[in-house]
Amino acid sequence: MSDSVIDRTIGFRLGGVDDTETAFTTPLGEELFSYARRENPTVADCEHVLAGIEMSEWCLLAPSGMAAINTSLSIFNDANDHRPWIFPSDAYSGTAEYAAEVLQKQRGTKVRFADLAGPNSTTENLLSAIEDEPPALVYIEPISNPLLDIIDVPAVAEAARRHGAHVIVDNTIGTPYLFHPLNAGADLVVHSATKFLAGHNNILAGVIGTNDADLRARLLSHRNLIGSVISPDDAGRLKTQLATFAVRLDRQNATAMELAKFLDKHPAVAKVRYSGLPSHADHELAKEMFNQRGFGALITFDLARDAAGCSRFVDDVSSSIPHIGSMGDVTTSFLHIRACFGEDYEPSTIRLSVGIEPVDQIIKGLDEALQA
Ligand code: PLP
Repeated sequence: MSDSVIDRTIGFRLGGVDDTETAFTTPLGEELFSYARRENPTVADCEHVLAGIEMSEWCLLAPSGMAAINTSLSIFNDANDHRPWIFPSDAYSGTAEYAAEVLQKQRGTKVRFADLAGPNSTTENLLSAIEDEPPALVYIEPISNPLLDIIDVPAVAEAARRHGAHVIVDNTIGTPYLFHPLNAGADLVVHSATKFLAGHNNILAGVIGTNDADLRARLLSHRNLIGSVISPDDAGRLKTQLATFAVRLDRQNATAMELAKFLDKHPAVAKVRYSGLPSHADHELAKEMFNQRGFGALITFDLARDAAGCSRFVDDVSSSIPHIGSMGDVTTSFLHIRACFGEDYEPSTIRLSVGIEPVDQIIKGLDEALQA
């Protein structure tokens, strides 16, 4: 098949009776194409590219990040296992809501949220929760969204595995450019590929990576049974856009570091949350965990203004930088966190998703609105 061909076949031509039986009874993952919900060549092709980027044995595509999270968590649901599943309190809001509504309320899973970072770090709170009541599963994000706390993945994964728990890591914000959770003890890594992997604000997709053959078989079976599959058109476009992943992230990470320093010195900014700054509580941990490759392309900062002044900033800055409820695009965008994530957040908190424009251009847009 040529690289640019999208195979939209639903029912693939079958051979004789024996071949047909083989096509439908061979375990999924062998790329014996019979029916598109089971396996599709364009999807499989993109999954191989993703496995190369993730440095995993296998990757599976899903139609969104939430679909990837649903599939990866669902394979561990076991009505006879009453041990808790631990999540950080500041997990991505969609994941936290899924855990409370779908896992806990609908499926009866015992969900426990580790305490919010207060006097202790999020990592310490997760470690205490694991020791307090050994879990069946621990779900973490190396960089939290939107406040950009850093979790010590190797330490949490080691404690979880010591107690026989499975570990899932959502690496959407860290990205495989910075970090490979499967090498740090995770059983599964999940991504909203909608964000940095796709990188152009034009594809909704999710990814699950693993090195464990048994978990892969369970994921493939579950995905087929619930029909949570990506379209070949999206998989084909994602594959094209993945060709520039490393170049984009190289630039986005480097520009974010420069912008974080600019914002940190700006008198109209009260606080910058970016683990690349030595002032960030987890700067040393981030340096080590991300192997000195960078600190990500998101910066969250607080404006030194009252709520009305913050609303004005949103209006002013959006003439040069778009206000968008997503991230990871090659075009820089920002988000007013309280307007999107709710009253738990201050009106002054802004999340910047750094793109690939010249850094001076982004600084100009920010500076004009900060000074207005
Ligand atoms: N995980 C994280 C960290 C996210 O930020 C998001 C969405 O913002 C998701 C998962 C869900 O991804 P999607 O919107 O592709 O379903």
